[in-house]
Amino acid sequence: MAAITHSDIVKAPKALLHDHLDGGLRPETILELAEAVRHPLPANDAEALGAWFVAAADSGSLERYLETFAHTVAVMQTEAGLHRVARECALDLAADGVVYAEVRYAPEQHLERGLSLDAVVDAVNAGFVDGCAEAAAQGRPIRVGVLLTAMRHAARSQEIAELAVRYRDAGVVGFDIAGAEAGFPPTRHLDAFEYLQRENFHFTIHAGEAFGLPSIWQAIQWCGADRLGHGVRLVDDVTGTPAGGDAALGRLAAYVRDKRIPLELCPSSNVQTGAAPSIAEHPIGLLHDLRFRVTVNTDNRLMSGTSMSREMALLCEAFGWGWAELRWLTINAMKSAFIPFDERLAIIDETIKPAYAKLLG
Ligand SMILES: [Zn+2]
Repeated sequence: MAAITHSDIVKAPKALLHDHLDGGLRPETILELAEAVRHPLPANDAEALGAWFVAAADSGSLERYLETFAHTVAVMQTEAGLHRVARECALDLAADGVVYAEVRYAPEQHLERGLSLDAVVDAVNAGFVDGCAEAAAQGRPIRVGVLLTAMRHAARSQEIAELAVRYRDAGVVGFDIAGAEAGFPPTRHLDAFEYLQRENFHFTIHAGEAFGLPSIWQAIQWCGADRLGHGVRLVDDVTGTPAGGDAALGRLAAYVRDKRIPLELCPSSNVQTGAAPSIAEHPIGLLHDLRFRVTVNTDNRLMSGTSMSREMALLCEAFGWGWAELRWLTINAMKSAFIPFDERLAIIDETIKPAYAKLLG
């Protein structure tokens, strides 16, 4: 069979669980919004600005990496700015063939110009509604669910958890916690996680990206996370390989696999932050061979210069994967989504399975 190309993958339906709204802006949009709010940028044309974001995220310097978000968040402080970014996010994902996406952002980062938390969520939700309607009119239907993120280093997780639950019937499908892992364990936010569990709500936690097994263990066993944001360092609890016939899982890795806890892996982002040495050496190959509940995600499309189709194309190239693996990853993601079971099943049965049946021939 001929190798699968990027343009083939664009046409296949895909599901995305881990994508940051403030990490996926179009460079042209940043330029236009920044001019309106007089925010200075490191480059003055779209191409140079896009390249600056990727280079800064690639630099290995945490300061430069964080600086990239200072520029995107700066232009997302008004209702019009938030609406536009969300609308374009839905359109861009739909154009890439994504049929289901969970997009996350931290409302507390968008209050600098006086918006309330509710006004931020309303503006983003309205942007997604408009973007999804336009995408459907163009013949590229997409469903977007929102995750509200609380920042690890801050003290607003309870408030953001309550905000997420308040909007659960208005577009918000889950909660997340993000930010630097070292020194800010998820157990600092136990009250919020216990509240969410009492409310029968869903949440994922960024864990096991830079910080390793203790943060994964806390996210699962102390906080009760439904999914792991990244979770890539789970491989530190695996010895041997399936190919060598000597693969063995530690207690934590075995628990995560037994319980089918989804891993939101983000290959390019993991390479940029040093959580994986390269795509070819990314633990996703081993985690796939061991049949963990693996999903592929973009994390920050702007900073990684990537898309869902590109991430999948890179994996096909690195691991020799084909449509069977892409189908497995897509169904894994859809099974792990935070929307109701019957709605997940409808997307799997009516959209994903028929499309991949044709591709698999
Ligand atoms: Zn992330």
